[in-house]
Amino acid sequence: MQEYTIRAINTGLVTASKRNYLYHNTTHKYYLKPDEDDVAILPTACFLVEGNGKKIMVDTGMSSTEIADKYHHPGSVQKEGMDLPSQLRKLGIEPSEITDIIFTHLHWDHVYYLPEFTNAKLYVQRKEYEFAKNPIALYYKSYEDPRLEIEPRIHPQWEGREFELLDGECEIFDGISVYPTPGHSVGHQNVVVHTKEGDYHCCGDLMFTLDNLKPVPEIGYEVTPPSRYVDIVDEWNSLVEVKKRVASDKFVLCAHAPEMLELCDSGKVLGE
Ligand SMILES: [Zn+2]
Repeated sequence: MQEYTIRAINTGLVTASKRNYLYHNTTHKYYLKPDEDDVAILPTACFLVEGNGKKIMVDTGMSSTEIADKYHHPGSVQKEGMDLPSQLRKLGIEPSEITDIIFTHLHWDHVYYLPEFTNAKLYVQRKEYEFAKNPIALYYKSYEDPRLEIEPRIHPQWEGREFELLDGECEIFDGISVYPTPGHSVGHQNVVVHTKEGDYHCCGDLMFTLDNLKPVPEIGYEVTPPSRYVDIVDEWNSLVEVKKRVASDKFVLCAHAPEMLELCDSGKVLGE
């Protein structure tokens, strides 16, 4: 099987409530102290996958501070040079050289700067695409729906682009496959990348911390669900599915888990 390397790239920091995002309210007492500060500062990682003659992105990360702070999570920051196109150029790669982009889902902080990726073929689950095109009003912000009138008006970032629409689990290239992990969004998927170390699972926003994979024996939970989801039954089942499939926590890559910060900052290339 074809082997790839993976580089985690942090495109900015978002602020989120530990109680409203990281841990389901039935699990707070096992993870949070009653007087604990509620603010978590989370990375927004995406992943550069190279091998097989391809330069693939799993997601493209978040927007400028201006848009993130004003329209999404107040206090979020994308420092100068943290945008994905700038970080790729620092690695000697032009955005136009990216051959393929596989999206875990289409929330705003996973699709930014898409207009610069002019030659990439785009992949997403059909269910996600169809919901993103016409979300319920509760999710207008998450998808930067045009009805919100976000300025400058190139929203959502994927407007006018064609996607390869996927229906469930499939192999995209030799050594790269996806499987559905709904719960955080209706058509969320995980991307599995084969490396010489083993198979890494890019889990997007299915988890906000690796704690979400831990059991809570006191209440008979096999996982610790986060508190941000569209469907808690799907979310739970997807977490259980990931636990079944991954060799260990080491192979779990998330967009926002605080545990990803160290990997991003190190510049370490997985599977090298
Ligand atoms: Zn999301």
